[in-house]
Amino acid sequence: MSENRPAVTARAPAKVNLLLQVGPVRDDGFHDLVTVFQAVSLHEDVTVTPAADWGVSVEGAGGTDVSGVPLDGSNLALRAARLLAGRAGVDEPVHLHVRKEVPVAGGMAGGSADAAAALVACDALWGLHTGLDGLAALGAELGSDVPFGLHGRTAVGTGRGEQLVPVLTRGSFHWVFVLDPAGLSTPRVFAECDRRRGPGWTDPGADGRLEAVEAALRGGSAEALAAALSNDLAEAACALAPHLTRTLAAGRDAGALGAVVSGSGPTVALLTDSAAAARDVVAALTPEVGEGRLRTASGPVVGARVLEAVA
Ligand code: ATP
Repeated sequence: MSENRPAVTARAPAKVNLLLQVGPVRDDGFHDLVTVFQAVSLHEDVTVTPAADWGVSVEGAGGTDVSGVPLDGSNLALRAARLLAGRAGVDEPVHLHVRKEVPVAGGMAGGSADAAAALVACDALWGLHTGLDGLAALGAELGSDVPFGLHGRTAVGTGRGEQLVPVLTRGSFHWVFVLDPAGLSTPRVFAECDRRRGPGWTDPGADGRLEAVEAALRGGSAEALAAALSNDLAEAACALAPHLTRTLAAGRDAGALGAVVSGSGPTVALLTDSAAAARDVVAALTPEVGEGRLRTASGPVVGARVLEAVA
């Protein structure tokens, strides 16, 4: 009977960190973070279809290289679906098809977006009505960025990034993302950050960076936001992938108002003041990096939601 249910597709956004302040390592091995996430218009679409067995397939949209995505039980979309089924007492396997627009291991939380979309799609398919808070609590068990993939828009994240408070923003911000053919492992970048800080490092604490980002967002000023962008993982990411320093400089030279490593990298996010300016930055950067590595997107956009029910 479950196989008669229609397929459901849900869409979830990538994120860029406007601020990523990395605090000390906690007893559970995670770092305390103060971050500002913005959801941007690069999306993952997850379609869930009732099936005899659990399974997952992946497709790259717009040239996204999906060769690094696992198709076994470690896939985050599949883990999310099974987690929700287990907690809700559902015994109705699904096949998940993931259409990825977000670079893999790029610091834009593509895997987390897959988990967020899978939770929303399965919740709708099974008629569970879990609610956003319930799904976010499940999502936090899968990864620190999953709750934000569910909430979307712009939010301050604390804890390990899973405790979210929405931020007031005005207007849209226009981004160019420079993708990198090689991914960077998030745990490796955090470890390099710790190594560079050394054992004697003490947390400087609040330093006004969060307030500067919040003020820029409230005012809707791309210029002020560009000046306030910062990422404590950038140095570590650039140490592990030294060409990123050049990419950041090339982005500024191409006319971007600001440039920052996205999350743990290696994607570089360039902020511009309009969609037209973003296209100009793409045109200026194309000879150096190639069009295939450049994506434009705007934010904020909404979090994971059902797109359609296919009859
Ligand atoms: P974050 O910014 O959240 O740290 P990321 O954007 O750098 O993550 P992801 O693309 O989310 O990186 O994936 C990181 C790793 O997770 C991949 O290298 C892959 O091995 C694993 N993974 C598991 N499931 C997925 C999935 N559905 N899509 C992408 N990667 C997945």
